[in-house]
Amino acid sequence: MKPLKFKFSTTSVEYYFDASFNQLDELVDKKKTIVLTDRNVFEAHQEKFIGWELIVIEPGEEHKIQSTVDEVIKLMIEMEADRSTTLVGVGGGVITDLAGYIASVFMRGISFGFVPTTLLGMVDASVGGKNGIDVGVYKNMVGVIRQPKFLFYDYSFLSTLPENVWSDGFAEIIKHACIKDAVAFKQLEKEDIDSIRNQSNVLGALIQRNVLLKTQVVQNDEFEKGERKLLNFGHTLGHAIETQYGLTHGQAVAIGMSYALKLSEQITGFQDSEKVRAVINQYRLPIKGDFDVKKVLDILKMDKKRVDKNMNFILLEKIGKGVIQSIPMVQLTKMVQKIKITD
Ligand code: NAD
Repeated sequence: MKPLKFKFSTTSVEYYFDASFNQLDELVDKKKTIVLTDRNVFEAHQEKFIGWELIVIEPGEEHKIQSTVDEVIKLMIEMEADRSTTLVGVGGGVITDLAGYIASVFMRGISFGFVPTTLLGMVDASVGGKNGIDVGVYKNMVGVIRQPKFLFYDYSFLSTLPENVWSDGFAEIIKHACIKDAVAFKQLEKEDIDSIRNQSNVLGALIQRNVLLKTQVVQNDEFEKGERKLLNFGHTLGHAIETQYGLTHGQAVAIGMSYALKLSEQITGFQDSEKVRAVINQYRLPIKGDFDVKKVLDILKMDKKRVDKNMNFILLEKIGKGVIQSIPMVQLTKMVQKIKITD
């Protein structure tokens, strides 16, 4: 197995594309490795985990919280983990966010790697070193930026992915296309979930293209001083509704993007909202939701992208060109209250 290596500020990360889980022991010593996964992934792929020291937690965003961190750390202590242990997160974004965070704080930091098993995990959550947990309704409120040692892509995990979880991954793929990749947007317009899923070469190429796009953005701006903020397109409003309304991350981001399109029309004169909304629909994602604007705005105030009385909001100038716009909270509140999205 020959990885691609990418340099970040303090370390480099090895990416293994098109790999097979049974080769993972070529990267890490089984005796010094703990695998963290969730019950769904474990039950769907039990045979893959034979011979690995394993911690299996309950699935779902509601478990991406401090009490799970405590629970896993207690188990790691019982398993006599030490500073030479590697923690490998095998799962969707919930597992990789948790694994990266736990590994970053356990004994002040041990080595970790990711085997993403959802499309969203592959193209987005596992890439870029943001690890963390939710606090109440506040998404990713606590966390660190620390890079894994490796990313290990075994596409065979995707064979058991539930239907709606496929859509979630496409939300982030559409986001990448909107902010930086007009060519990919055209491809998304021509394809749909089934056509992509049924052509393994197209799926593999799409995953790799998105991983490389995100990697380049993060390499340019690992600690989110500028360009990395673009990756938050759809996430500001998305995060404010995700935990409150029991939406998946992808659904919340899709609605968030739909709202950001409206704001883009007003602020940058963006003209292609209908095209983007059509693609969001095509990948079986929602473009609107019924929610309490006041409650959403209250959560928005605590968003990490707010600086004093302004919010750094991501808008589109055209398809393939996202821009960062500082919008006064007062103006944002008024605009959000007025937005109406019809089917
Ligand atoms: P998830 O981890 O909850 O997985 C979705 C569901 O699919 C879960 O029920 C899981 O058990 C199941 N599952 C996972 N892999 C499976 C498989 N191969 N077969 C069958 N079932 C499987 O959700 P997700 O959509 O992967 O990730 C969302 C999370 O990622 C959110 O918490 C979000 O905040 C985070 N995220 C993080 C970043 C980052 O940069 N760190 C970026 C984007 C999203």
